[in-house]
Amino acid sequence: MLTKIEKLSKVLNEAYSEKTLESALKIFFEKNFDIEDFSIDINKKVYLESPVIEENEIKYPIFKHKRSIGYLIFKGGNNEFKKFIKYAAPFISLKVQNLILNEKMQKNVNFHETMKNIAKIIESQYELNYVIPIVGEMIDKFFTDYLLYIFLKDENLGKNVLAWPMACKDSKILEIVENFEDTVFTEDKKLLALPLKSESKEVGVLVAKSTGDKISEKDFDYLTQLSSQIATTINRANVYAEILKHATLDALTGFYNRSQLEERIKQEVANAKRQKAPLCGIMTDIDYFKNVNDTYGHAVGDLVLKDIAKIIRGQLREYDIAGRYGGEEFSILLPFTKIDEAQKVAERLRASIENKVVDISQVNPESDTKDIKVTISMGIYEMKENDSDEDLLKKADKALYQAKNTGRNKVVVQDE
Ligand code: GH3
Ligand code: MG
Ligand code: MG
Repeated sequence: MLTKIEKLSKVLNEAYSEKTLESALKIFFEKNFDIEDFSIDINKKVYLESPVIEENEIKYPIFKHKRSIGYLIFKGGNNEFKKFIKYAAPFISLKVQNLILNEKMQKNVNFHETMKNIAKIIESQYELNYVIPIVGEMIDKFFTDYLLYIFLKDENLGKNVLAWPMACKDSKILEIVENFEDTVFTEDKKLLALPLKSESKEVGVLVAKSTGDKISEKDFDYLTQLSSQIATTINRANVYAEILKHATLDALTGFYNRSQLEERIKQEVANAKRQKAPLCGIMTDIDYFKNVNDTYGHAVGDLVLKDIAKIIRGQLREYDIAGRYGGEEFSILLPFTKIDEAQKVAERLRASIENKVVDISQVNPESDTKDIKVTISMGIYEMKENDSDEDLLKKADKALYQAKNTGRNKVVVQDE
């Protein structure tokens, strides 16, 4: 018996969640006492005050503050088991209690971490279509038992449109959002729709749907707090987008922003055609950039973007043009440049970025890694006589796609 008690205490010590405890105990009792089945049940409404022993089943209560909060259920088991469990049940019960408490505390810690991370996004000004997936992934990680949807108010359409994730086929949810006025909590307590409201402005709807148990009061509270944080973040991104419309330079990199870049392309294409001069376009995209954000955080991602922009600027001639095409995609225009020369410029750029060490310790002091490196892929194209304004980057982008598909960290020329 003593060695079995030692074994049991080892099982109890090693378990770190209710689920791992349950499966470890199941194996332990099957092996040592011929138990047919074992489970931990803390989700039922009816609780026991003392053990219930039936022919083939024993239920032991799990106590918390003298109240039972569920039970341990054993099926089968030999005679030795019946003696053993009388002794062991209180220890197991205590362990379950501690684990539940720990999980609750951990959840609270995770919640504040999530809130903090969402709030952080506001500090670094982002576009909305970039913010939403980040927020979506954050809350998704926190609420693993729920399906979450973010709908955003489209001012032009005058209704809420799904922004995250890619699709929602649940007709009930779509109906609720379509007719949404204020918080909806369905009778079965499995579906909750909350307004995304910031500074009394409604920017959308957050929907949570449980795939298992009812949405608890605590989670209702978490979701409410999150919805307000998300709304604030969205509101800021909207304000930022408004400011951006009037700006010409991208705040992070100092490059031309997308709309200004398009203006410059028009001018350069017209120029090149008039002067019958060569003009090349380069599209760049950082390789596996999502990994950088996911591993080291978005602030580090931003730092990398800034450093790459600096390198690009440093390698270009004064009359070359650099623009931020999208999040981590830069476009470069090389006037008076033939494809062979453009290829050399691109190759030099690729190599400098490959060799650049980015020190992230200032931005992410918690990271064990201090220096990181990234690579970029590039596509280049030399404008032909009949090309339109759009063709220049479109065809460069085609080559970029090739570069991505054939190994990354390389330059591909689009010839036509
Ligand atoms: P690959 O291009 O090699 O296929 O992989 P990737 O991981 O880079 O994939 P993709 O180009 O599709 O990913 C774009 C990612 O870039 C998504 C987002 O996490 C990140 N990103 C976009 N804009 C920004 C930004 O302004 N700041 C930061 N930190 N990250 C951004
Ligand atoms: Mg990209
Ligand atoms: Mg990329």
